[in-house]
Amino acid sequence: MTQTPPTVAEAIRDAALRLAETSDTARLDAEVLMAHARGVTRSELLLRHMRDPAPKGFAALVARRAASEPVAYITGTQEFFGLPFAVGPGVLIPRGDSETLVEAALAAAPQARRVLDCGTGSGALLLAVLANRPQAQGLGIDRSPAALAMAAANARALGLDARAAMRLADWHAPGWSAGLGRFDLVLANPPYVEDAAELAPSVRAYEPAGALFSGPEGLDDYRVLVPQIAGLLEPGGTALVEIGHRQAGAVCAIGAAAGLSCVVHRDLGGRDRVVAFS
Ligand code: GLN
Repeated sequence: MTQTPPTVAEAIRDAALRLAETSDTARLDAEVLMAHARGVTRSELLLRHMRDPAPKGFAALVARRAASEPVAYITGTQEFFGLPFAVGPGVLIPRGDSETLVEAALAAAPQARRVLDCGTGSGALLLAVLANRPQAQGLGIDRSPAALAMAAANARALGLDARAAMRLADWHAPGWSAGLGRFDLVLANPPYVEDAAELAPSVRAYEPAGALFSGPEGLDDYRVLVPQIAGLLEPGGTALVEIGHRQAGAVCAIGAAAGLSCVVHRDLGGRDRVVAFS
């Protein structure tokens, strides 16, 4: 007796049931993995391919997701601010929360000419700003060579490499910023997680600890980076720093001690997410 192979629609439904045990977005995950296996976009998949036979590779992708691997590492890509970013192990997956920082950056400095992204990772913050500010040039720094390679690949893929340079540097190293000059915009999404227990298991197990954790309160990187901001900014420039939702007071205090004034921006969930220093 020959069994009819499942259709795309049936395979997605089965996968969504299985993934519901470990993922809050099981149906979406299943659709994204199916689109990846089928080599089409998710909207093409939903519009045109639901009755096709399910592709063979799909089950293996679902098994990886069932073991908590992030969807973005499985597909190798994550959309951020409407742009596709290549991501992979060793590079933090860009989050929707960080789009708040990009929006604040675009509003704060419509005429920005020089942009610095501290801890650029995949390049998401810097490249999203440059894509929307054709007059601007940017520099992304990171202490992770794997991240920088990904950021450089993303700059090329987005056609921004003529305006985006990537450089290995660590703001903990004395003199790291010598010769960089000053910037109209400084961006940073440093590691700031204070409590590993609050992270989803897939984040804890798969994403780079160096991009997440920063001492017992998650404040160690702010303590080192924020006092250096004044020396990086052009007169009238702005620095935008992502924060954990309980850290606005502490991070503003670090800035105040360094002579910076502070405005807090909230994310779409209404939680404090970005501090603007000037
Ligand atoms: N917002 C991220 C998370 O909670 C943390 C990012 C960071 O530490 N910079 O997963």
